[in-house]
Amino acid sequence: MNSSTTTSGLAFDIQLSQARKTPQQRAEILENPGFGTVFTDHMVTIRYTEGTGWHDARLEPYAPLQLDPATAALHYAQEIFEGLKAYRHPDGSIACFRPDVNATRLNTSARRIAMPDLPEELFIGSIATLLEHDADWVPTTPGNSLYLRPFMIATDVGLGVNNPSRTYLFLVIASPAGSYFKGGVAPVTVWLSEDYTRAAPGGTGAAKFAGNYAASFAAQSQAVEKGCDQVVWLDAVEHRWVEEMGGMNLFFVFGSGPEARIMTPELTGTLLPGVTRDSLLKLAPELGVPASEGRLSTDQWREGAASGELTEVFACGTAAVITPVGHVKSEQGEFTIGDGTPGPVTMRLREELVGRQEGTRADSDGWIH
Ligand code: PMP
Repeated sequence: MNSSTTTSGLAFDIQLSQARKTPQQRAEILENPGFGTVFTDHMVTIRYTEGTGWHDARLEPYAPLQLDPATAALHYAQEIFEGLKAYRHPDGSIACFRPDVNATRLNTSARRIAMPDLPEELFIGSIATLLEHDADWVPTTPGNSLYLRPFMIATDVGLGVNNPSRTYLFLVIASPAGSYFKGGVAPVTVWLSEDYTRAAPGGTGAAKFAGNYAASFAAQSQAVEKGCDQVVWLDAVEHRWVEEMGGMNLFFVFGSGPEARIMTPELTGTLLPGVTRDSLLKLAPELGVPASEGRLSTDQWREGAASGELTEVFACGTAAVITPVGHVKSEQGEFTIGDGTPGPVTMRLREELVGRQEGTRADSDGWIH
């Protein structure tokens, strides 16, 4: 065992594993990785104890956790997570896209779920330590990347429900990810969910809190039953303001050519502040496309698509970057946006953002770490 020290002063004990795959097996996986089913050789673990703070930072072989059946996270869902990607740049280096924003969002989520903050240096240091030792798992095929999953769970043992846990475990695991759209970018059909709501005012919608995702599966299944790919969430009070799509934020494009502008639902506390959303709000104006945050009702969505004023709609997030929305269904009927194919603004923003992430376009905003 040896150790390396992060800028936060916490040293990582490094316990190296035997490679879990042969180089040839790994090369085959990296060519066609799918999403989230194969994991790299190592994981990071850091423990927290009230009064002591963060301690026992380790890089260790990827392996099952041993948890007491009465561990708090298993009963009261005190668990938060993050998601970001590492990319292989053309010069062979490995780059993360805006990991500082994920570090900040982890702590925003932590406060909402009564968990401790994790210092940003420790978040970045964990990712750097894992990437240093599992560098061979970062795909070289353009479009493929290494998805990083930092998460934190409550580890107190006991069923008392009155207090948050006093001990926590932070982990980072990593999984190679393929390009979302293999045969070209395909528009999705969405279902406007009026039976279920994702997040209420004062609730946990702005946190990347595991329970939000558990609560979304029934609505996602309903969307699939209705012949759709994804669920679109509406506000919990009036059921008419559009919030987000599954695990992605939404953008609406109005007008076309030099008149095109984009708008995304404002952060009301009930939707997740996506890193991709934030990046597009900055990037679009740099490309001459004005961007704003606002509100759009389901009626305005349908009327805008019918009049032609609303020309394109797309969703954005770390996993699929930018996904065009072609078709919308609800209990009231269905409609198509434009001609249902990916629009020019959607594709231009996608190309620019992917280029910056993969290092084929200039990093003009200093987003690459
Ligand atoms: N909304 C929800 C509910 C999500 O889970 C995600 C994925 N993290 C997003 C939006 C997009 O966020 P990001 O751009 O940071 O991936």
